[in-house]
Amino acid sequence: MPTGYVFHPHYLWHDTGTSDGLLPPDPSAGIPPGTHVGNADTTRRIHDLIHASGLLRDLVAIEPREATMTELLRVHTSDHVQHIKQQSDQPRGGDAGDGYSPVGRGSYRIARLAAGGLTELVTRVAEGEVTNGYALTRPPGHHATADHAMGFCLFNTIAVAARHAQTTLGLPRIAIVDVDVHHGNGTQAIFYADPTVLTISLHQANCFPPDSGALRENGAGAGAGYALNVPLPAGTGHAGYLHAMHQVVLPALDRFAPDLILLAAGFDANVFDPLARQMLTADTYRQMTRLLVDAAGRLCHGRLVAAHEGGYNPWYVPHCALAFLEELAGTTTHLPDLYAAVVAGYAAEPLLPHQRTPIEVAAQLIDRIKPAT
Ligand SMILES: [Zn+2]
Repeated sequence: MPTGYVFHPHYLWHDTGTSDGLLPPDPSAGIPPGTHVGNADTTRRIHDLIHASGLLRDLVAIEPREATMTELLRVHTSDHVQHIKQQSDQPRGGDAGDGYSPVGRGSYRIARLAAGGLTELVTRVAEGEVTNGYALTRPPGHHATADHAMGFCLFNTIAVAARHAQTTLGLPRIAIVDVDVHHGNGTQAIFYADPTVLTISLHQANCFPPDSGALRENGAGAGAGYALNVPLPAGTGHAGYLHAMHQVVLPALDRFAPDLILLAAGFDANVFDPLARQMLTADTYRQMTRLLVDAAGRLCHGRLVAAHEGGYNPWYVPHCALAFLEELAGTTTHLPDLYAAVVAGYAAEPLLPHQRTPIEVAAQLIDRIKPAT
């Protein structure tokens, strides 16, 4: 069965405005105006490369819709939803709350279109129209908690889709694997006490948010054991991430036995990314995807659905995303990976002892997940 693909031009119209990369411009403080690092260019280039590669012909295009208020309120407070709407209704937009998360004029409906796009894709997978899929959505979602936005994220797209799958699609056990280089703190917080949703985040230790994503954050109450974190030291590359997949992600998925695997597909662990210091290549993303496709095949009828998250290098992220999507769709395109030779040295970096340690500690926590009966 084919792979679904969600995209809409409005995802590119989420306007992150004038910025000095991260900060609002402030000439008196010496902060010059420029472009926000979360602008639309990288996302546009991903879609363009997917199109130019010919891969689009092999995919089933799924038209996104806006998430309904019922769907949003399964995850977010009413106050939070109204706050984003108010910021979005201002003539020139505003900020979602932390000073780093611009809300463009009209971004409220675009964020709903992102959450609804993934939700629709999950629905089509559950109904068997497609096996798996990728929603190239924007704005991202994994930092957003129930009641506040953060780190460019307005609504938690993947959490909205997870709750929809549980409540209306008959898929009670959800695993969320987050490979964005930053901690999936919002998703973790939403499901922290919930043993029906296993969250696993691979991220750069001590990156963003500050003091978030430590090994000791392992779930609470009935959800104790169902939040797994693998905080990888800066400089971790292909060998480290593959080791984490084999030692933590795959055994945890096997033990949990989900009905659906959601992937927070951030590509900002790539070696050229400006917002982190990890060393992944397009081939790393390809190999991680292959492992997840295999896991979904043996555990949940292939149901693996990805939401786009971060990735801030406009020229390399598209190649990482294409490698990921080729693997998800089980095909290859005619486009060679011209960067493979450039990154060959990085890719050859071995697994180092200080990278191995957090992986080994996280692996010991898997026993806290009750085996599925
Ligand atoms: Zn990120």
